[in-house]
Amino acid sequence: MNPNFFQTPIDYLKGVGPNRADLLKKELGIHTFQDLLNLFPNRYLDRTQFYKINQLQRTGADVQITGKISHLKTVQQKRGKRLVATFQDETEKMELVWFRGHKWIRENLKLNEVYVIFGKTNWFNGMYSMPHPEMELLSSYEKGLRPAMQPVYPSTEKLNSKGISNRVINTLMQQLFLESKNNFSETLSKHLLESLKLIPKSEALVNVHFPKNQNQLARAQYRLKFEELFYIQLQLIRKNLLHKAKIKGYPFTKVGEYFNTFFKEHLPFNLTTAQKRVIKEIRNDLGSKAQMNRLLQGDVGSGKTIVALMSMLIALDNGFQACLMAPTEILSVQHYNGLFELCKDLKLSIYLLTGSTKTSDRKIIHKKLENGEIDILIGTHALLEDKVKFKNLGLAIIDEQHRFGVAQRSKLWHKNKLPPHVLVMTATPIPRTLAMSVYGDLDISIIDQLPPGRIAIKTVHRFDSNRLKVFRFLKDEISMGRQVYIVYPLIQESEALDYKDLMDGYESISREFQKPEFQISIVHGKMKPKDKEFEMNRFIKGETQIMVATTVIEVGVDIPNASVMVIESAERFGLSQLHQLRGRVGRGADQSYSILMTSHKLSEDAKTRLETMVKTSDGFEIAEVDLRLRGPGDLMGTQQSGVLNLRIADIIKDQDILKLARSCASQILKSDPSLSLPENLPIKSTYIQLTKYKNIWNYIS
Ligand code: ADP
Ligand code: MG
Repeated sequence: MNPNFFQTPIDYLKGVGPNRADLLKKELGIHTFQDLLNLFPNRYLDRTQFYKINQLQRTGADVQITGKISHLKTVQQKRGKRLVATFQDETEKMELVWFRGHKWIRENLKLNEVYVIFGKTNWFNGMYSMPHPEMELLSSYEKGLRPAMQPVYPSTEKLNSKGISNRVINTLMQQLFLESKNNFSETLSKHLLESLKLIPKSEALVNVHFPKNQNQLARAQYRLKFEELFYIQLQLIRKNLLHKAKIKGYPFTKVGEYFNTFFKEHLPFNLTTAQKRVIKEIRNDLGSKAQMNRLLQGDVGSGKTIVALMSMLIALDNGFQACLMAPTEILSVQHYNGLFELCKDLKLSIYLLTGSTKTSDRKIIHKKLENGEIDILIGTHALLEDKVKFKNLGLAIIDEQHRFGVAQRSKLWHKNKLPPHVLVMTATPIPRTLAMSVYGDLDISIIDQLPPGRIAIKTVHRFDSNRLKVFRFLKDEISMGRQVYIVYPLIQESEALDYKDLMDGYESISREFQKPEFQISIVHGKMKPKDKEFEMNRFIKGETQIMVATTVIEVGVDIPNASVMVIESAERFGLSQLHQLRGRVGRGADQSYSILMTSHKLSEDAKTRLETMVKTSDGFEIAEVDLRLRGPGDLMGTQQSGVLNLRIADIIKDQDILKLARSCASQILKSDPSLSLPENLPIKSTYIQLTKYKNIWNYIS
């Protein structure tokens, strides 16, 4: 067979004229034979058994029945006519109904011959009826390649209205299989097929399009899902390995004075096992000749900052500078203050650079950076400006990565001759398996353990009608010396309204919590940075007890005395945001609370979000639910990865297959990095094709 057979334009398939070809291209992106072959069904209708008419149930499912047509009549109705056939088996009678195509049906239907009919049944006037059934004489049904499990292919309204029904796609598929004579090349190695008991490629393709039973279908799907995930993983892992081999970094050969002194004398607590493990992983990276490119995932409060600091100390020990970039001014200031305090006995120079740094100070900082008088620079994306030049930047740390894009990350890369090591920290956990697919170019470390002695935050859901009770509770807490956050949503599309809600809320809170007994801070994005900082500081110092705010406080802010987080209109927040917000409390020794306020009108998804928040505080569990609700499309980074283009596997439901695929891919690359062993030949040739195309299904056939 012509090796390019599968690249043949779809126009050349029997049954596809120029019009159909055009529609298939536009509506389903099917340009070639291969594209059609890799159009996998969304679902299947079960034709594995025949129902008797007296067994029918009013479930609306598509079923198949054998029987004969005894009678055909045309019934006049308000608009047009309908054609009604009386259909019967040995148990009962029912009706078949057509609203269109009468002439053709009258001419072609055979009375008193056994037909297989298939379709949705309705219960009407004491009798079952089936509108527009698919039908076929039993004699031809038995001969045909008609699948017992009827695949339902993706479709569009336009395709349907232009007559390209599922049946037509199915017929085209049959034609394609006839023409291709099952000549599909195997894409996995014999070894993989045997050790994992996978069915061969050609069998999988036949059975995914024409399965005879559930069992066959399941095996076909499993094989194709594995293949899809395997090649994505193979690509990712190889990219990562190549990166390590190619991108040279500055090796930090030693752990010296700064690190050791800090570790022995100034560490304010014992590190958790998870923190120790992660520091070790980072140390290994830094010590190698390759540039580190690592993602550190850890729930809010899991203690990422200390890990960042100790990594920076290693850089300093090796004669390099380090920087830490945070997404907001407030956070940068907090990091600066915190790290300054931790390092105050270490004799190192640490500076802060943000958008509101005065020009005169800025100049000094620029100069000191360039001549190496600054060891650690902390700040916002002001750090990225071209004017900011380091003498010898060795490590760049980015906190809360989802606020920064890939482009910004790469800007940091150019701050030294060789790219500095990069550590990206995020408190938005995503399931590990997904992270492996999404951030394929990063290595991943996870802090999956909170420091000891934390008291779990109590989370409750309250309706707006219970507001007075909630206020009373807040007063009790404040009287015990605690502080309270009240957060309002602020969404770009409804910004004006949201600000009104915030100000209305602030007013009613001010009426309820009056001076001088109560002091209230308010912080939102429309305030000048100076005023924001002033208010924030009043709260940090405990001069105010209530902080009314929009989500500016979402990320990273650490005020141990704040023990209550009230979230207004909680139904409008996404799960990860709710989780982030809740993480602002529970940082001190006291019992903390999170109160989710909503109206009574809640969508199903909103209910699930609220229930999840009340039920668990495990960031990874929350991330799983979030992913299920929103799909991977909304996750940062998924756009670039292959995750969204999955044809047959499901990134959430098929996590086990994903894990297996990843470990197989990794093993193969470990034992045969260039895929040159004869047994890996099918993998190699597929892989070579794969690097040419974006979507792996463009070459897998
Ligand atoms: P996050 O991961 O959210 O950035 P932080 O680094 O801000 O968390 O740490 C949260 C709090 O926990 C800080 O007050 C920090 O000092 C404290 N902390 C971190 N690690 C430990 C530990 N091993 N033992 C006790 N407290 C710790
Ligand atoms: Mg943090």
